[in-house]
Amino acid sequence: MLFHLIFIIALSFSPKPEYKANKAIVIVVDGPRYSETWGEPSKKHIPYMANELAKEGTVCTKFYNNGVTFTVPGHTAITTGNYQKISNIGFQLPKLPSFLQYYEKEKGQKAALVCSKGKLGVLGNCKEKSFKNKFLPVSNCGTNEEGRGYRNDSITFIRIIETLSEEKYPVLMINFKEPDVSGHANNWDGYLKGIQKTDEYIKKIKDFIDTNAYYKETTALFITNDHGRHLDGHKDGFRSHGDNCDGCKHIFLYAYGPDFKQNFISETPREQLDISATLAHLLGFSMPTSNGKVMRELFIEN
Ligand SMILES: [Zn+2]
Ligand SMILES: [Zn+2]
Repeated sequence: MLFHLIFIIALSFSPKPEYKANKAIVIVVDGPRYSETWGEPSKKHIPYMANELAKEGTVCTKFYNNGVTFTVPGHTAITTGNYQKISNIGFQLPKLPSFLQYYEKEKGQKAALVCSKGKLGVLGNCKEKSFKNKFLPVSNCGTNEEGRGYRNDSITFIRIIETLSEEKYPVLMINFKEPDVSGHANNWDGYLKGIQKTDEYIKKIKDFIDTNAYYKETTALFITNDHGRHLDGHKDGFRSHGDNCDGCKHIFLYAYGPDFKQNFISETPREQLDISATLAHLLGFSMPTSNGKVMRELFIEN
């Protein structure tokens, strides 16, 4: 009993890490295989990330979707920290709250959700009773007011810059629909161009963060994917995705921010769930329903 008490007292006095970041942006590039991003030897499809961003942050080379490798399930794993079977056409809400809702509840500030794919509007809400229809982020997804349909990434990019320019959303979740859409169209050149184009949007977003007084030096940036695509020679190859092949599961994570290591390659195996746990740890709010683990290897002090 006495030891127990001493332990509790010692815990309450242990110093809480002080982080510089108090904002976080998660960018999901929809559906590239690792073999065309960081796994491509010359990294020629992601020149900005490979040549510039790599020096400023950490690249996780063993990052995985270990759940269902479709779009809504992949994004749900990232936002809630749980793998679950969920409709991929946007007809179901996630079971558990996302980091967007937990952040709003605990910190009392608004989060934002900006997605090319309208069906991803479901990420803003959940079925869990104490969160359902509460702590909802500002949502701007898809083509119309109901948030259905897909819109061009160029429109989403404009919406992202508009949202950031308001300087009142410390937490943002973003989806670019390419290269996934060109992949499904069996358009190899379009698929590669989609990867390159999102690399350009990422540069512009990063430049905005670094020069905006509200975001600069206080923002963590996570860039990742919802899923990859089938390996060549497996089923219909790069055209589709959705199973457990390594092409579908192996994705990337890049992390940048004032508390993260620079010019660092991490080979620690990690998965989508760990983004929510790391983001909540960094920003200092609790996310008890996330099954993720804090990726301590990203941090300068760990
Ligand atoms: Zn997808
Ligand atoms: Zn596959």
